[in-house]
Amino acid sequence: MPLEFKRSWTDPDLDQFRNTVVRFIEKEMRPDDEAARHRGHVGHELWRKAGSTGLLCIDIPEIWGGVGGDFRHEVVFYEEMSRRGLTGMNASVHAIVAHYFLNHGTEAQKKRYLPKMASGELVGAIAMTEPGTGSDLQGIQTRAQREGDQYLLNGNKTFISNGFLAGVVLVVCKTDPNRGAAGTSILIVETENCPGFRVGRVLDKIGLKAQDTAELFFDNVSVPVNQLLGGQEGQGFYQLMSDLPYERLIIGVTALAAMEGAFELTLNYVRERQAFGQPIANFQNTKFKLAEVATEIKVGRAFMDRCVEDLVAGKLDTATASMAKLWGSETQGRVIDTCLQLFGGYGYMNEYLIARMYTDARIQRIYGGTSEIMKEVISRAL
Ligand SMILES: Cc1cc2nc3c(=O)[nH]c(=O)nc-3n(C[C@H](O)[C@H](O)[C@H](O)COP(=O)(O)OP(=O)(O)OC[C@H]3O[C@@H](n4cnc5c(N)ncnc54)[C@H](O)[C@@H]3O)c2cc1C
Repeated sequence: MPLEFKRSWTDPDLDQFRNTVVRFIEKEMRPDDEAARHRGHVGHELWRKAGSTGLLCIDIPEIWGGVGGDFRHEVVFYEEMSRRGLTGMNASVHAIVAHYFLNHGTEAQKKRYLPKMASGELVGAIAMTEPGTGSDLQGIQTRAQREGDQYLLNGNKTFISNGFLAGVVLVVCKTDPNRGAAGTSILIVETENCPGFRVGRVLDKIGLKAQDTAELFFDNVSVPVNQLLGGQEGQGFYQLMSDLPYERLIIGVTALAAMEGAFELTLNYVRERQAFGQPIANFQNTKFKLAEVATEIKVGRAFMDRCVEDLVAGKLDTATASMAKLWGSETQGRVIDTCLQLFGGYGYMNEYLIARMYTDARIQRIYGGTSEIMKEVISRAL
């Protein structure tokens, strides 16, 4: 009997939802992926189509314009993109931004942004990283100075996912540079008709070619005080820290789904490809490598599923979620490298999906907190 990687948390409704997701991906995403890789972004239309199919803000309550599902629904969407190597639409950053509004926004902020994010009218981004600082967020220089009923925002951000297409950006900045973490706040910036705001280059990355990652510039951007997330200054760090399990687990589950996709792809390839008069699947090395990969996936599935269940139950702690991110992203790198080797020279060709999965995998160990930072977080909990 073929090995199955069934999720412990699924049920008939989620299986049906998965079918809807797969239909959407095959019809709307896959055909445009090559063009999106050349453009460097997936375009607004795809976001709106995803919204009208009910694939954005899936775990945001209906009263705020969301779909009213839970984290498992979000996972289904990320998994099905990831296993196909479709990394153009960063729906997870969009979901993370929606959660900032849901968990910390004022009533008016939730009302204004969540329905538009659910429909895909507004794409969300979060801008923390600056040219001078990434891991050490306390070192950010972007400054918001209060002048009457507005803030004047000045600073540069880089590596911002969805930065090019974003209609709403959560900008992490200092409202009081003398107070360290307690002087950090998050401002909501609407990018359309926003004097002083500028999107720089769509950055040229080694992977994630269809996903937009951009530099953002804020030059005396006037932001009304009611655009302070949550309405209270100095809450930025607390807001950033509060949803870490959600953000880190997303990277863990996408890593595992990418491994599953790469495994399937490789299994099919080695059964077809011949060398020395037989399929390369017959060689003991091939069988052993794939046995190792299948074992990693099966063991990882048990842990990741448990994390998903715990997150849905509100019980996932930051250290365990950091383990999911650390283990998932590191194992993804190793597993896809092993799979690529079995493709021989074809594995090095961009037209082969395994090659794209290889370059796409590399960032998973860096963004959302590097592997080294994950180890710091885990070690603090020991
Ligand atoms: C494709 C892509 C998308 C991204 N999306 C976003 C986004 O949407 N929003 C956003 O704000 N940012 C985003 N980032 C930025 C990303 O989160 C940062 O690149 C990451 O956090 C690392 O920061 P850094 O690049 O400044 O590296 P640095 O912090 O300079 O780290 C360099 C090296 O030093 C190590 N290091 C740093 N501190 C320690 C320590 N205390 N102990 C041990 N080692 C340490 C790091 O692990 C790393 O290996 C994105 C980046 C990329 C490439």
